[in-house]
Amino acid sequence: MKFNTKTIHGGQENTDPAYGSVMPPIYQTSTYKQTTPGGHKGFEYSRSGNPTRTALENALASIENGKYGLAFGSGLAAIDAVIKLFKPGDEIISTSDLYGGSYRLFTKIFENLGIKFHFIGMHDAARIEDHINENTRLIWVETPTNPMMNIIDIAAVSKIAKKHDLLLAVDNTFATAYLQQPLDLGADIVMHSATKYLGGHSDVVLGSLVVNDQKLAEKLYFIQNASGAVCGPMDSFLVLRGIKTLHIRMQRHCENGAAIAKFLKSHPKVDKVYWPGFEDHPNHEIAKEQMKGFGGMISFTTSDGTLKSAVKVVENLKVFTLAESLGGVESLAGHPASMTHASIPQEERAKTGVVDSLIRLSVGIEDEEDLINDLKQALG
Ligand SMILES: *Cc1c(COP(=O)(O)O)cnc(C)c1O
Repeated sequence: MKFNTKTIHGGQENTDPAYGSVMPPIYQTSTYKQTTPGGHKGFEYSRSGNPTRTALENALASIENGKYGLAFGSGLAAIDAVIKLFKPGDEIISTSDLYGGSYRLFTKIFENLGIKFHFIGMHDAARIEDHINENTRLIWVETPTNPMMNIIDIAAVSKIAKKHDLLLAVDNTFATAYLQQPLDLGADIVMHSATKYLGGHSDVVLGSLVVNDQKLAEKLYFIQNASGAVCGPMDSFLVLRGIKTLHIRMQRHCENGAAIAKFLKSHPKVDKVYWPGFEDHPNHEIAKEQMKGFGGMISFTTSDGTLKSAVKVVENLKVFTLAESLGGVESLAGHPASMTHASIPQEERAKTGVVDSLIRLSVGIEDEEDLINDLKQALG
């Protein structure tokens, strides 16, 4: 099956043996009748497994070209499950420019439990080796990075991970499986905040992991069940429905993203525009190679470089909604320094370019002209 067919049919054989409903039923149940102790039809208790969640997990595995999918109550719950593979004394190397909530989870929860994190810029993959020692277990990569749109060469990082016998996990939330498939590039774990593009309609919070290795899948399933941060059947259904239009939504996100990035670049009140589709983007060549398009996420700074002007622009927007999150059909604007990345200390933020005048756009699938006119009036 090719990708567009997979978004609709992947892993969906026989999801309703009872009546053959085309969409899998929402099995809103906590438990399942047994005919004799232990005699059940594959499901015992909905933390351990629920048929609607299984349908979603199979779809997730299919679109990521993986064997095993696992769905969680949020993206952070999925990341939490990955880090629980490790023990005190273990070390993890992570991209420095990453989602604020991931940074908070790593530094405020797992560092207290004895896991050590190194945050480094990975656009030069060779720098990773300087931080590897006998305690290193995992490399955590986010690409494109949030919010600076750096691109990390997944295949190059994977070579380093394999050479040192480390796991490589990729947060694929921004690109989605439509634009890039990290398992094919050598990653061991691909993670999503399905809250974003996979769900696609800003109506659900959910997270996922996909892996190929059976032993790793068993360990993660053990954690999913033992820690219990699972998603409910209704939420599983919503993401499953979202995935069915992922390919056509992503196409339009990419088209609108390109138009808006070019518009911003030519605007006198805009200083820098961060979007991997520009030829002068420092990682443009890698983006072209590992991604099918450049996506709908764009960051830019105002030309006077002040907090005040950035705040004014986001307040003036009318079609773009000022809100956290991304990846929905509607366009959103955010101010990372005071919103998504407020949990990262200012000095750390500044090092990666998250300055006070930075605005992040999640370009939706509305008419391009309306979006550009909105930015025009807000910047004016
Ligand atoms: C939103 C997001 C997360 C966290 O996911 P939740 O579903 O909000 O818990 C992780 N990584 C990235 C890149 C995100 O955008």
